[in-house]
Amino acid sequence: KVACVTGASGFLATQIIFILLARSWKVRACVRTPAKAEAWRAKFPEFREDQIEFVCVPDMQVDGSYDEAVKGCEVVFHTASPFNFVFTDNEKDMLIPAKQGALTLLRAAKAEPAVKRVIFTSSFAAITNPHLDPRPGHTYTEADWNPSTWEEAVQSTDRHFVYLASKTFAEKAVWNFVKDEKPTFSVTSIVPPVILGEAAQPFTSMVDINQSSRVLWRLVDAPTMPATPAYLCVDVKDCALCHVLAAEQDASVINGKRYLTAGATFTQSKAAKVIAQLFPDVVSRLPPAAPYEEHYKYSSALVEKDLGIEWRPFEQTVKETFTQLLDTERKS
Ligand code: NDP
Repeated sequence: KVACVTGASGFLATQIIFILLARSWKVRACVRTPAKAEAWRAKFPEFREDQIEFVCVPDMQVDGSYDEAVKGCEVVFHTASPFNFVFTDNEKDMLIPAKQGALTLLRAAKAEPAVKRVIFTSSFAAITNPHLDPRPGHTYTEADWNPSTWEEAVQSTDRHFVYLASKTFAEKAVWNFVKDEKPTFSVTSIVPPVILGEAAQPFTSMVDINQSSRVLWRLVDAPTMPATPAYLCVDVKDCALCHVLAAEQDASVINGKRYLTAGATFTQSKAAKVIAQLFPDVVSRLPPAAPYEEHYKYSSALVEKDLGIEWRPFEQTVKETFTQLLDTERKS
């Protein structure tokens, strides 16, 4: 059993790869540069070359660029997508790569008969309605879609809004491909909110750590409570497990589904409370609590039923994330 994982240098993909290897999958890992592959190998020398092989795909927007990578793979996990808030051109840096990358991958999968499943990493970004949030009284499920338009996203000066839109257009492109091209493989979309937890991927400092691992760090030395990016979160290990369980579940159960994989509600104040209890030395560096603001509810009942996932406790996720962040600060 061989699985292809795109974005293999990333926070989420690294945990997906760990689970695949532990369950005896062979992994074809796609990265953008040889340096990323070398860094991964150097950090995890315990994994042999017959267990994980790296393929360089420098530009996933080039049609055909994933063709070699998916050869002989039964399952393809597409996690690669731009995730940062420092870009300059909304279309070129964010919207087009997210959407085109997904399409390049799907076309490659369609041309490779070995591929039986594609598991696409979407985001709660594609579900939430940024115009209405925090939206008390609403319960978000897989039935919801971010209504942002391409034109709005091109013109927006809010990078967070543009990232949300990029994930929306990418996931819509995936489902349109399924509708128009009728591939023989199954397609499943995993839709995580803010992913927290241990950052296992190679990184050297707080500067090059992945975006969502910085969310909790914003609490440290903040004069006031920082904004909560989304009122839901999931542990990276749970989120990775959902991806792999979707690859291993009966195709008739998972085919054509999107799964909202939220493990807990999240606010920066809630996280700060847990951090204050677990890390007394940090209390003086945390901002005063913000007043509670009512926000939307959610349901992850579908993924719990179909994949039998049980969520790690929020406190444990915060503990693991923050222990690592403090350690990274000490070493930086
Ligand atoms: P990371 O930034 O750690 O990983 C992103 C991966 O995508 C990296 O391997 C990166 O490669 C690759 N990538 C970025 N831009 C491009 C591009 N233009 N072409 C090819 N590859 C690219 O983030 P996460 O692991 O957190 O994100 C993984 C997926 O999960 C993404 O699709 C993201 O949108 C989604 N997601 C993440 C959430 C979170 O809170 N973390 C929440 C919901 C969804 P390189 O290392 O070379 O930059």
